[in-house]
Amino acid sequence: MEESRHRLSHPEALKKFRQTLHGKVDAAIERMLEKSPSGVDPYSLDFTGRESLAFEIGQEISVLLLHENLVQDSWREIVAESQSWPCPRCRTESPRKKNKKGEESYDSVELRTRSGKVPLRVRLFYCPKCRKSFSPLPTACEPGAGEP
Ligand SMILES: [Zn+2]
Repeated sequence: MEESRHRLSHPEALKKFRQTLHGKVDAAIERMLEKSPSGVDPYSLDFTGRESLAFEIGQEISVLLLHENLVQDSWREIVAESQSWPCPRCRTESPRKKNKKGEESYDSVELRTRSGKVPLRVRLFYCPKCRKSFSPLPTACEPGAGEP
């Protein structure tokens, strides 16, 4: 049987994430259903305020889930193990980008999603033909994705 590309890479990380998400859900229940001493009384809000609060909480949880999904996806391991990657512009096989000390370069990017910005740390490659660095992203099927 073929191994799924989307297998979970790190069960320990999933356990840790599960705890984080449980904490977020508990906090969401407090924000939405209880009157916290420091927070806003959710029952004092008008309907639009309550709807906005629920939507905001949903977005925060969506971003966390999407981020963890992308971090756990084995495409990251494929990228991590690759010595080169095709340039998204010209398809030239491009080596990993290194700084002057010979250390490999990473960048922090924010994926814009319907739920909000999802932060990701990504490995950089450098196309000698275009003279530009790029990173393979899960959205790599989109032309120009990953341009810093
Ligand atoms: Zn190129």
